[in-house]
Parts: sequence; structure tokens; C-alpha cells
Amino acid sequence: MAFEGLTERLQNALGKLRKKGKVSEADVNTAMREIRMALLEADVNFKVVKDFINTVKKRAVGAEVLDSLTPAQQIVKIVDEELTKMMGEKAVPLNKAPHIPTIIMMVGLQGAGKTTTAGKLAYRLKTKEHARPMFIAADVYRPAAIDQLKQIGENIDVPVFEMGTDTDPVEIVRQGLTQASLQNNDYVIIDTAGRLQIDEKLMQELQNIKDLAKPNEILLVVDAMTGQAAVDVAEGFNKDLDITGVVLTKLDGDTRGGAALSIRAVTGKPIKFIGQGEKKNDLDIFYPDRMANRILGMGDMLTLIDKAQETYDKKQADDMAEKIKENSFDFNDFVAQMDQLQQMGPLEDILKMVPGMANNPALKNVKIDPKDIAHTKAIVYSMTPAEREDPDLLSSSRRRRIAAGSGRPIQEVNRMIKQFNQSKKVMNQMTKGNMKGMDQMLGG
Ligand code: GDP
Repeated sequence: MAFEGLTERLQNALGKLRKKGKVSEADVNTAMREIRMALLEADVNFKVVKDFINTVKKRAVGAEVLDSLTPAQQIVKIVDEELTKMMGEKAVPLNKAPHIPTIIMMVGLQGAGKTTTAGKLAYRLKTKEHARPMFIAADVYRPAAIDQLKQIGENIDVPVFEMGTDTDPVEIVRQGLTQASLQNNDYVIIDTAGRLQIDEKLMQELQNIKDLAKPNEILLVVDAMTGQAAVDVAEGFNKDLDITGVVLTKLDGDTRGGAALSIRAVTGKPIKFIGQGEKKNDLDIFYPDRMANRILGMGDMLTLIDKAQETYDKKQADDMAEKIKENSFDFNDFVAQMDQLQQMGPLEDILKMVPGMANNPALKNVKIDPKDIAHTKAIVYSMTPAEREDPDLLSSSRRRRIAAGSGRPIQEVNRMIKQFNQSKKVMNQMTKGNMKGMDQMLGG
């Protein structure tokens, strides 16, 4: 997980403040020193850290904070707000052309994830906006790049305009744009060449493509794992090309997170998307406030809710709520719920989005084994349809039969049924507005 070290250290520093009833200016200074070190170690740009600490300090030592009833909480809130500001405050949407097509030019160093991101972006536009994007393959230096783009195009059913590797990229883009207007594509995504480092020849070529295509969006793709180097790359590309936005990739990896925190402040350009995996739907809108919450270990409930909304069909969710209310939630619903939860991603990642869970030591090494879920399902599938609909039928002889049928020990069958009955009770109480149910569920 990204930001793990940073989150832990920030929580430590702020946790010490929380333990004090009264907070003095000296306490704030100590906490700020720790936060400063934590940010520098996470590879956040030096100047950005300095400005951040100064602002937080100035706000935190004011009488309205220190003399308030909850000084520590107020300071956490200030840190959260200033982290959000550092990253740009609000999500910035993709630029759109007044007339189709909207032209998006992807730029970045080799290996940053440009081609992969072009694919994810096209997939996003297709699925979220029902758009008809087209790719132009303008990376003629790396022959495999064209094949890679063609493969992605095939996979997500997006046409790729290419002219091999012998034509000048500017000419390819010119002809590609003509093709897009013939085909009535509403988005054109140009995949350009990358290099290992910024060099003048590459920048000139990109400038020529920019002059011809007049893109509405120049998205720079940078690899979050490279930390401060990613920020330098962003500065370089921005100086030459005046980029319009940044995509930060590989935030699913073990990055220290410095790039996410400094790019906006250093370049003045927004991070528009983050890449969090290699699959076609692993591209998310960058919300500075949610990212700040995630960094502070306050979870990322909003993303969780978004994911749930994407996965859960509204009607299904309504049906489920109705069943819970009527207390007719049965084992068939239980399995359907498990399937949907699994579609949202690895369960341990989902749990970490819940506030307070990100750094919960109990979760540190949790790996929820998909096998456990498979076992639970095997137990349910060994029930007869009547048993699934009416768990009260499950007598001990029936349970023994189910254990034999699913190949699971009888204790596991009993435990699973007990848990099911408990959750059902809790859910039922909660829908009746009795929050005690929630406490029980949390073991309170
Ligand atoms: P390009 O040279 O910039 O076009 O880079 P590619 O698109 O070929 O990506 C380089 C490698 O990074 C590939 O193995 C991608 O699968 C991988 N990659 C790209 N984005 C992400 C991401 O968000 N997370 C992870 N884990 N890998 C990524």
C-alpha cells in the first residue's frame, strides 16, 4: 500500500497531541517537527514541506485552537485541510473541446505507464460516457508500443490508427485526425513516444505534434514510485509543453507518496487521475480531499461508496434493503452479497478504506484468503433450496449432511450459520433505527 510509512508517522505525531488534554505551543512545535521529517522522508519536495509546516503552525498556535475544548482534533483538521490544499483542493475534470473530437495527447517518460493509461482512459470514457474514442499510435521508436496499443484497442474495442514505424509522427497524427473526423470519433487519444530521460529532440517532436493537433488536454503520465524524480519530470515537461494535467501511476505499489503531495504545488498543474493497478479499470479520478484523508489514515469512505455504487445495481440494492427490512434475507442473498463484495476488489484493500482501519495493527498482515470465501460458498451450495430460503430448517442432522457435502468440518458449518443468524439480527435491528445493533457487530 502506498503511503504506509507516512500515514503511520503522521498518526504517531498527531496521536501524541491527542493524548494531551491541553496543548501548548511547544507541543505544536514538536508535532510539526515530526510531521516535517515524515513528509521529507516520504520524498515530498523540500520547499513544499516548508510552506506547509509554516501554514499549519500559524493556524494551529492561534488562541482559537489552543484554547478550544478539542485542540488536538482541530489541529488534525488543519493538517487535513492543508494537505488537501497542497494537492489542489478539488478534483479537476478532463478538458473538453466545444466540438468533437476532444483531443488528448499522452506524454511521459518510457515505462511511466503512458500506453496502459491511454487504454484505461479510453475504457473509462467508453463505459462512463458511452464515448467513441480512437487511438493514434504515434510512438514510432519502440515498435512494441504500436502492438501494445493495438492489443489494448482490441481488448476494449477501441480503434487504433497506425502507420507503422516509418512515417513521421506528426504526419501520422495529421492523418489520424482526418480519420477520426470521418469516423465521427468524439475523443482522440494520441500515444506519443517516451524516452528514458527528457531530451531536446523528444520535446521538439512533442511540440510539433502539439502545434498540429492543438490538443485540449496534454496529460503527463508519471510514475509515483519515482518520488521526487517524478516531480522533476513534471516540471520539465510542463516548462516545454505547458501540460494541462498529470496522471500519477502505480499508486497501488509501495510508494512513499511524495509525488502525489508535491506535483501540484511545484508545477501548478492538477493531478487529474491516479493509476492504481494494471487492469483496464484501475484508473480513478484524483480527489485531493480523499487523498488527504487516506494519507492521514482516516480511510477513504467516499471512494468505497463510489466503488460500491459502481458495483451494486440500484435495483438489487433496493431489493436487498427491502429483504433486510422484512427479515427475509436468506442464504441466496448472502451468496449474492459475497459475489458483489468480491467484485469491488481484494477485501483487505476494501477494509483499509474504512476510517480507522488503514493503520489498524490487526489488519497489518491480514490477507483475506479467497479460499475462505470459496469454502463459505461451498457450504451454502450444499444446502437444499428450501434450506437456503429458510435457515431455521437447519437441524443438526442437516448440518452434518451439509458438512459432508461441502467437504468442510461440521464446526465450520455451525460457525458460519451462527454468524449468518447474528448478522441478520444486527441488520434487522439497524433498519429499525436501533444503533445498538451496530455496537454488537463491532464487538462493543
Ligand atoms: P509507457 O512506456 O509509458 O507506455 O509504459 P507502459 O504503459 O508500457 O507501462 C509500463 C509498465 O507499468 C507496464 O508493465 C504496466 O502494466 C505498468 N503500469 C502502468 N500503470 C500502472 C499502475 O497504475 N499500477 C501498476 N502496478 N502498474 C502499472
